[in-house]
Amino acid sequence: MKLKVGILGATGMVGQRFIEQLKGHPWFEIEALFASERSAGKKYSDAASWYLTSRIPSDVSEMVIEKIDTKVIDRCNLDLIFSAIPSDIARRVEGSFAEYIPVFSNTATYRMEDDVPLVIPEVNPDHLELIKIQKENRGWNGFIVTNPNCTSIGLVIPLKPILDELGISWVNVATMQALSGAGYAGVPSMAIVDNVIPFIRNEEEKAELEGLKILGKLKENRIEFADFYISASCNRVMVRDGHTEAVFVKTKRDFSTDRVKEVFSEFKGEPQRLRLPTAPERPIVVMDKEDRPQPLFDRDLGAGMSVSVGRIRRKRKKLLTFICLSHNTIRGAAGASILNAELAREKKLI
Ligand code: NAP
Repeated sequence: MKLKVGILGATGMVGQRFIEQLKGHPWFEIEALFASERSAGKKYSDAASWYLTSRIPSDVSEMVIEKIDTKVIDRCNLDLIFSAIPSDIARRVEGSFAEYIPVFSNTATYRMEDDVPLVIPEVNPDHLELIKIQKENRGWNGFIVTNPNCTSIGLVIPLKPILDELGISWVNVATMQALSGAGYAGVPSMAIVDNVIPFIRNEEEKAELEGLKILGKLKENRIEFADFYISASCNRVMVRDGHTEAVFVKTKRDFSTDRVKEVFSEFKGEPQRLRLPTAPERPIVVMDKEDRPQPLFDRDLGAGMSVSVGRIRRKRKKLLTFICLSHNTIRGAAGASILNAELAREKKLI
């Protein structure tokens, strides 16, 4: 029998992706949709400004949006929650649902807390063990598992095989981030048309810290952060979906570009071994053409779950540079939460 899921923030950019990605999912079915009081009580198709090129699934289109209330858990027999709500309300809202059932969250609020797993299943599946500690600490029947910010995911996936193979001393990254990353009401068109905005509030802090937790080691029920630094410079560009990042990595050991290409291409993790439904066959796709990856052409690789990497260069001894691209609302958000939930189910945590 499929698990019944509720989506918090179902009308937003990420909420819409949840709906799209869960259509026909073999393990999960949508049973409840939640949004703000502005939308509650309305039919989904009337409340959401649907921005995707796919159609609203017909069963979802007719569903009535719920006001955020944990009573819906019993009424709809919910087994778990996917969350894509603004971070300023997430502490209260996600915490209240986690008292009863598991919550898989896109929101920044709980990500950096000591007992909350921040997980990319290909990179740190073992961090799910924190769930046990979290439930003890907080007395919850459920739990919260978070996925990283959309910028961190696209960066950390290629950093993982580099860290394992070559070691890392430091990382610099300059990002070119899509408009959907700012939410539906995000950036006014008059601010972004014909323009690049070299500032995204709180984004650099997340890109600099989250990766160190994800690439850290679980020791005695705590995460020991990775011991290098990441410095980030984040920019908003006029692209609909897909974050592009120019990455510079100072490695501990020298390398050839051919070896780096091999290491990227061979990289696989637990989702691929377990054949999880949302896992891409190849988490990293290496592009050899000199002008790729590009968001318009490459963001949907692996159904939006692969990170494409190109322009791999050895700038000098132990200095690697490359461009990576990932779909910010699929691999960087909804798809990431769904993959986390699939992994948790496979590990019998749900
Ligand atoms: P969004 O398009 O602005 O959508 C926000 C959603 O939250 C809508 O469904 C909205 O409902 C609902 N909401 C707003 N205020 C609420 C309230 N007071 N009570 C209940 N629901 C409320 O934002 P988004 O881009 O989907 O982002 C959602 C979360 O995911 C944010 O925390 C964001 O940082 C994170 N995230 C986003 C991305 C991305 O690429 N966009 C990637 C990773 C993580 P109404 O329609 O009724 O207003």
